[in-house]
Amino acid sequence: MTGAILESDLQLRPTRCAICGIEGGATELYQANFTLNAFTPEVFSARRIPDRVHYRMVRCDTCSLIRSDPVADAQMLAQLYAQSSFDYDSEVSNLKRTYGRYLSRVTPHLQSSKRSLLEIGCGNGFFLEEAVSRGYKEVWGVEPSAAAVKLARPEIRDRIVCDVMHAGLFEPEFFDVICLFQVFDHIPDPVALLDSCRRLLKPHGLMLFLNHNVDSLSFRLLGSRSPIVDIEHTYLYSPRTLTDLLGRHGFTACEDGTVLNSYSLRYLSQLLPAPKQIKGMILDAMRRSALGRVSLSVPLGNLYLVARKTGRVRQVVEE
Ligand SMILES: [Zn+2]
Repeated sequence: MTGAILESDLQLRPTRCAICGIEGGATELYQANFTLNAFTPEVFSARRIPDRVHYRMVRCDTCSLIRSDPVADAQMLAQLYAQSSFDYDSEVSNLKRTYGRYLSRVTPHLQSSKRSLLEIGCGNGFFLEEAVSRGYKEVWGVEPSAAAVKLARPEIRDRIVCDVMHAGLFEPEFFDVICLFQVFDHIPDPVALLDSCRRLLKPHGLMLFLNHNVDSLSFRLLGSRSPIVDIEHTYLYSPRTLTDLLGRHGFTACEDGTVLNSYSLRYLSQLLPAPKQIKGMILDAMRRSALGRVSLSVPLGNLYLVARKTGRVRQVVEE
């Protein structure tokens, strides 16, 4: 798939609330503003410069979960992620620091040893390296982008399955910990993903989520100008809606909180809610000066949440 797609190829599907399991029953927050040009691998590449392109976004009238509705069909999304690029190498050391900080939040809740860990959406495997350095013996990743997997270090590459996450990739009850960093809001069917994760986790296994938070000050202030209102995001969570969803699918939240993200000043400039041209000038200046490489830890509107598998499923959504 290269360049823009044809209008006849774009199949938009209505979405259902992942918590209530219903289609409709929601109030529009923002109208769709995308064109067919949005459906390219470049747009669906991790950590691209946000450009405020999004689907129609709605908030569920019953549970207040925010979702995109309608969205491109899951097969097309899988293809776009498979062809997406990996171009945030300069931020990897900062990301390792941030994600490592939240992996350490998991340890006090572990009832077993630091044995096996799975990361869904692992890019070039940088966090898998971090998990090994923090004592995990058996690490695995799943990543749809072939370009990202190709850039993995040789000792980690064999540990990455190049695919979208789906049932049957690993043995049941194999993992102690499953991590998703800036991934869960991209998942078109979070219920199916949670069901897969529950099967893959050992009894009392843990999940670590780190993703956008719609309760954050930046989202409440910026609304549709927030970088989280983006065509890559199918659902947007708050600690409450994520806890509610997990509770219905066999998990109990153990701990949640606000994330302090470590980033370079240059990367932070990408997130400014400024017009493209002005942002381009700022980024150019940052690229040329040492200031752009200065690293800061700031709350960027992300939440983290640790949840334990309990196995009790309160709700099964009928297809
Ligand atoms: Zn709902």
